[in-house]
Amino acid sequence: MKNIIIFGAPGSGKGTYSEEIKNRYGMGHISTGDVLRAAIKNGTELGKIAQGYIDNGQLIPDQLMIDILAKQYDSIAVSGKGVIFDGFPRTIAQADALKQMLAERGHQLGMMIELIVSEDVLMERLLRRAQLEGRADDNEETIRKRFAVYHSQTEPLSKWFAAEGIRHTFDWSVCKTKEGMLEAIFKEIEKENGLGRMV
Ligand code: ADP
Repeated sequence: MKNIIIFGAPGSGKGTYSEEIKNRYGMGHISTGDVLRAAIKNGTELGKIAQGYIDNGQLIPDQLMIDILAKQYDSIAVSGKGVIFDGFPRTIAQADALKQMLAERGHQLGMMIELIVSEDVLMERLLRRAQLEGRADDNEETIRKRFAVYHSQTEPLSKWFAAEGIRHTFDWSVCKTKEGMLEAIFKEIEKENGLGRMV
């Protein structure tokens, strides 16, 4: 399987769809948000650094994230299975580093899946998630900061992936349901990997 980068704003469903893709194709999965939250929970050095950034809706510095990512990748990249990158890259510097890190290992970026969801829907979902999961950064003020960071630092990457010729977009307003999104995503993954239609 080709590597997959799941890309989209906070609340667009990166974690949810990553889980579905992972279960269906038996791929590896790296969520940088989960790695950071686990570090905070365990009170590690990384957790102490990450906490302030996350609580403020800001990004953790690139070099730190790039080092974490490389370590995670080397521990889970099982040959041929492919890895889902969820929440990374989030800046052009991270994308350049990911491309280089994969090239050094004789691997490729694979495909990028972009989830497009309007800001009203995102806000509604994140506030609902706040009640269900109690994530500290899911409050309205921090969510607004995360949206601003997304627009200024992460969204420009969409064009970076388009220039690499690997961007595939999926629009919530067209697919309308999680099942509809999944069907479209699975179909595209199977096309990209030369698999017969499985959906
Ligand atoms: P969401 O996409 O809903 O914001 P994530 O779990 O992906 O959720 O990320 C939560 C927070 O973790 C981000 O707001 C940021 O502070 C930090 N983070 C996660 N991934 C990265 C990354 N690749 N680079 C910098 N910071 C990151």
